[in-house]
Order: sequence, then C-alpha cells, then structure tokens
Amino acid sequence: MFKESVFAIVGCGIGGATMAALLQKQGYRVTVYEQAAAFIPAGTGIHITPNAMKVLRHLGLEPELNETGFAPASFTSRAWDTGEVLFSLPLNNTPALYDGSYLTIHRGAFHGAIVNKVQPGTIQYNKRLKDITQYPDQVVLTFDDATTACADFVIGADGFHSVLRRCVADQSVPVYSGYAAFRAIVPAHRLRSEPLDGLTKWWGHDRFIISYFLSKRKDHFYFAAGIPVDQWKGNSHREATLEELLSGFEGFHPAVQSFLQVSEQHTLWPLFERPAINNWYHERIVLLGDASHPMLPHMAQGAVMAIEDAAVLIRCLDSAGNADWQTVTARYAHNRQERIKRIKEHSSENTWLKTPMDPAWVFAYDAWKAPLVQVTGA
Ligand code: FAD
Repeated sequence: MFKESVFAIVGCGIGGATMAALLQKQGYRVTVYEQAAAFIPAGTGIHITPNAMKVLRHLGLEPELNETGFAPASFTSRAWDTGEVLFSLPLNNTPALYDGSYLTIHRGAFHGAIVNKVQPGTIQYNKRLKDITQYPDQVVLTFDDATTACADFVIGADGFHSVLRRCVADQSVPVYSGYAAFRAIVPAHRLRSEPLDGLTKWWGHDRFIISYFLSKRKDHFYFAAGIPVDQWKGNSHREATLEELLSGFEGFHPAVQSFLQVSEQHTLWPLFERPAINNWYHERIVLLGDASHPMLPHMAQGAVMAIEDAAVLIRCLDSAGNADWQTVTARYAHNRQERIKRIKEHSSENTWLKTPMDPAWVFAYDAWKAPLVQVTGA
C-alpha cells in the first residue's frame, strides 16, 4: 500500500541516508532534504559494530566496509596510569560469534559509503527545514529558502537538535552533561611507537581516552579524550591547545603521552544529553536516530541505533499489509523503544567493556530477524 506514497526524509546523516537507501531498495519513493550545501566527508572516528553490519549488508556495503575499515583484534580496557589490562574483549571472532565484523573507520568515509547507495538526484541539499504543516492527506515542508515540498509521510532524521522532534510534542532542550571531549587525528607517520592495541580505552577516575586506527591501512590514528568541564557556553565545539590537552591528562601512561604529544589541530566537543521521549510519531511524522533518542557516545552505538531503526521501520512498512500509517509507526516505535532505553542507560553510565561482560545483547541483535510485536496504532 505504501509503494504509491511519497516519503520525505529530513536530514541526510547516517540514519537518514540508511533509511533512504533501504526505502529505494524496497521500491518506495523518497526525497531527502538536507540542510548542508553538499556532502562533505566530515568527522573523526566511528565504530561499526556487528549489529550495524548486519543491516548494512542488505545495501551491499559489507565487502567495501571490510576492505576500508580497521578490524581491531580486541577492545582493550586499561588502567589510565599503570596500563594494567582491566578487560580485553577479542574482536577477531565477531563474524563467527555475532555474524558481522567490528570495524573502526573514518566517519566521513563510512557516511559517504552509505550516501553512495542512495540513487542520484534523491538528496536535495541546501534545504534546511523551518516549518512543517500536517493536513489530513499530506504534509507540507517549508525550508529556510522559502521553498516548499509536499509528501505523504515524513521521516525525521534531523539529528540531536531535531526540528521535527518538536512536532511530536516534545519541548525539552539539550542539557550539557558536564563532560567534553578533545578529539584529534594523528597521521601514523607522526606516531613515535606502535600503539599498544589497535583499539584501547584508557580509564581514569573521572576521565578517559579511547583511541584507534581509522582505516585498514593504519595511516591515521584517532583519539577522543573525555574530561569534566563544569560549564559550556553555546552548543558547538571550540578549538583547543596541546597544552590544555596535556594538562588534562597528566600522569596518564607513557603510551598515551606518546600519541597525545604528537597530536595537532585539537578541538574540544561538549557532550549534551536529551531525555528520552516516548512519542516517536505524530500523525504523518515519525522520528529516527538522534532525533528521537540521542545518547552519550560512550557505547559507540548512537549511529548504530539509527541504522537499526531504519531496518525495523522498513520491516514495519513491508509487512504493513492493509495496516495504516498509524499502525506502522506504532509498531516501529514499540519494537525499538525497549532496546533503545537499555542502550541509552548503559551509554550514560560509561562503563561499557570496562570490566568483563558479555556484549552479545548488543552485537548479536539482528534488526532483520528480531521478532516484530504486532501492535495497533491509536
Ligand atoms: P545526524 O548524524 O546528526 O544527522 C542529522 C542530519 O540532519 C545532518 O546531516 C544535519 O545536517 C541534518 N539536519 C539537521 N537539522 C536539519 C534541518 N532543520 N533541515 C534539514 N536537515 C537538517 N555513534 C556510533 O554508532 N558509533 C560511534 O563510534 C560514535 N561515536 C561518537 C563520538 C562522539 C564524540 C559523538 C558526539 C557521537 C558519536 N556517535 C557514535 C553518535 C552518532 O554520531 C550519532 O548518534 C549519529 O550521528 C546519529 O545519526 P542521525 O542520522 O540520527 O543524526
């Protein structure tokens, strides 16, 4: 029934691009509206965990990602000062254990690979959504440039500061978490020695560093260094100095000092939180990814959850039969919210893989096969 409908996706981040590619693969009609002027392969590092890989496999992305991304042998947690191993989770067996590899990769390369799976002409850039009006039979989107577009249904994938989140009756505002993270990419030729492990999290009392390679070629090494910062003005990042970074991580293990000291072009990013919302849909609008469930990055699952959302929403559409949009969106939300709640809570705790634990509940999840509970829309 929905094959005749026109879908609009607002936001072409990792979630919006995955959703668009999956819709097109299944034969739906979709246009994506993105505020940026063009696709730029921006960002630093990101983890692709096996649960994301299982979704992306359906877009034919698995060989390309395996060829590009770095496959760490383990996720190793170490004490900040002595370097003592607190826990080391082997990752070279994830294809056998969880049906998908665990990769670290440059975020822009990853995002670009997904965007390339969207048919040319689908993404309209320079379209910043300003307002939306819902009518009984359609939705009208108004953009900053005063143009408008119509659609039958709208998928809000417009991220942390989502405009569409307000349309599903949420008036909350982002809250600064009290933490910020230095981020920097170090060209491998600047490293004084081979890092101890390919992917390591160094755990201090109130601060941490996570570091890994960004590609199979191991030509760039990345770290994010989280530190308490009492207050933050505004909501965007700022440039930082090497001195600030080094003083924040004084006393950390020599292996850490060796890559901090050769790093350049530092930025400091505030980490914000937003409460979970129960309403993910309203009339003809449904939310996906950070628009509905932003979370702290400590489990590296924010983008992965947006990818899983897209797979479950497609399944709800494909299996709709004679069900209406309200039923589709109610099923989608119902089937995602418990898992998202659990992941969001664990992310806030910032204890993921610090000590021995079984990650199967995260990595083994298969968004294509997880049982779909059939609920009926209001
Ligand atoms: P976004 O990626 O934010 O995309 C939203 C898109 O909507 C953007 O392209 C934006 O330009 C566009 N947009 C916004 N407003 C409008 C508008 N009004 N009109 C039109 N377009 C609009 N997640 C992981 O899975 N693994 C990791 O390793 C990881 N590491 C992280 C590290 C850090 C330091 C941080 C801060 C986050 C990390 N995350 C990670 C989380 C991840 O980045 C987000 O959860 C993910 O980007 C959410 O994807 P999204 O598509 O929902 O939103």
